[in-house]
Formats: sequence, structure tokens, C-alpha cells
Amino acid sequence: MSTVETVRGPVGTAELGRTYMHEHIFVLTPDVQQNYPDVWGDEETRVADAVAKLRALAASGVRTIVDPTVVGLGRYIPRIQRVVDQVPDLNVVVATGCYTYHDVPFFFHHRTPEVGELLGHQEPEPMVGMFVGDITDGIAGTGVRAGMLKCAVDEAGLTDGVERVMRAVARSHLVTGCPITVHTHPESHRGLDVQRVMAEEGVQPSTVVLGHSGDTTDVDHLSALAEAGFWLGMDRFGINLATTFEARADTVVELCRRGLADRMVLAHDAACYIDWVDPDALAFMPQWHYLHIGQKVLPYLRRQGVTDEQITTMLVDNPRRIFEGG
Ligand SMILES: [Zn+2]
Repeated sequence: MSTVETVRGPVGTAELGRTYMHEHIFVLTPDVQQNYPDVWGDEETRVADAVAKLRALAASGVRTIVDPTVVGLGRYIPRIQRVVDQVPDLNVVVATGCYTYHDVPFFFHHRTPEVGELLGHQEPEPMVGMFVGDITDGIAGTGVRAGMLKCAVDEAGLTDGVERVMRAVARSHLVTGCPITVHTHPESHRGLDVQRVMAEEGVQPSTVVLGHSGDTTDVDHLSALAEAGFWLGMDRFGINLATTFEARADTVVELCRRGLADRMVLAHDAACYIDWVDPDALAFMPQWHYLHIGQKVLPYLRRQGVTDEQITTMLVDNPRRIFEGG
């Protein structure tokens, strides 16, 4: 039986059920939070709020989420364990990797592969050892193993830092078989950078999710990446600032019409709490929450001709296939 690592341990891929492939629980800036703790407020209140939101998600029929919160996004697994222990009906897959659009974090500035080679390290890139350890041994002594690798490339493209992280993620995948999710900027066709680097590293596209693909309505571009074998993360439902509800949903409708339901996964990229946004500003994004797909998106897709079978493919079958090696 094929399994995937979750916060509570391995789960059979056939048991994952309806899965949202990109949802955060907390997105935090730890050194700001440590010095300005009033922003976060009361720990118990925050944990209880997350438990309530995730229980509501589980009650809506979603069985699994993938939380791609890694270094750069404030990953802290003990808090995630506290939350998930109180939501028994939901599996949470956590991730390893590094999130940057530009430079590597300062921690890595002078811990380069060149220095690693000078020091005679068997694996000169320190990130590879860290990511592989999270997948095989567990994260920071918690016993929780990462089930997904994560990196990012945004509008700035393949900067030195972005490329270094992406190649470290690719090599960690080759060692472990762990699937990869990449934050992309599809309007500037950054998926093509991912395609080139992964090909150079020998990574199969069928093990890579191109996140935030739904941020564009360029269905020809998305179709080409899907036909090359990548998974399209239509994973920001509810973030309707630069786009609209209909534009996002219609992109999925059109890709389904083109026969590509078997290349898409769905999610919101939502969080119970994200310190990147002033809480008062979140009022401008009333649809950005875990229940939006179930409440609004799926009924809309059905009205536009997407079948229940295609919805099951995107929400159940495709996540399972990703965790079974693509
Ligand atoms: Zn995200």
C-alpha cells in the first residue's frame, strides 16, 4: 500500500479523500512576531481559531490538506501538531523547502555549495541535507515527516537564490521521491523556468505541481504545461483582487473542456492566520477562506458543465496520483 506522511503519521493514499493541495494554517514572520508579540495576540485564542476553521473544513467533506509552509513562511510544527491533534477528521501533510522570490535567507549566504565542497562535505549543498532529513527523519525532533517539497519562482524569475533553492529541491526529490510544489507567477510564464530546471535535474514533470496556475487566464500557456506532464495548481480560489471569481473559475471550466481535468488540483492558498496582511484589510477578500470552493466554486463549475466525475478527478484522484509518484 502506498502511503503519504501526515502530521499524525502515514496515511494510505487511497484514504486521502477530497484533498486541497495548497492551504496554509499559519503564515508568520517569526522574528517580527518574537519582537512584536501583540500582533499575534493570545496563543490559545489563535490555536482555538485554527481548530474551529479546520473542523468546519473537515465537516464540509474535505479529508486532507497539504500545508506548504516552509522556511520563509514561518513553519513551526509543534503548534501545527497542537492544532491537528484537535481535528481528528482532517489529514494535514506538511512540507519542507524554502520560500523566496529573490535571495536565499542569510543563513545560507555563506553556507554555499562551494564552501561545502571546500569542507569536504559529501553533499555540498546544505539545503539538500536539511530537506531530505525533514522527509526521512522528521522535522526538528517532532517525529513529523514532510510529505511535500516546496520552492518558489515569482516575477523576478530565476535569480541566483531562486535557482539554488529550486535545484536543492529537485535533488532532494531525486533522493526521496517526495513530490514538489512550486509557487509560480503564471502571468510571466515562470512555469517555463521550472520546466527547464527540472528537466536539467532529471525530475519528471508528473511529480511537480505548478502552484498558482489559476492566477492567469492564459489557457494556451497552461495547456502546454499540462500537456508536458505538470500538475496545474488552481489553488488561489477566493483571492479575487487582480482577477475575478468568474475568470478564475472559467479557466478551470475551459481546461476541463480541453480534457485536462486529470492535470489540475484545487485549493484556496488560504490560512487561519497570516501576518502578511493587516486583519482589517482581509475584509476586502471576503471569499478567501477554506469553505469557498465547496460553497461557491463547485456549484459554479457544475453549472458551467464540469461533471461530478471531473470534480472527483481534481479533488480526489489527482492528489492521490501525485502522492503515488505522479
Ligand atoms: Zn501558499
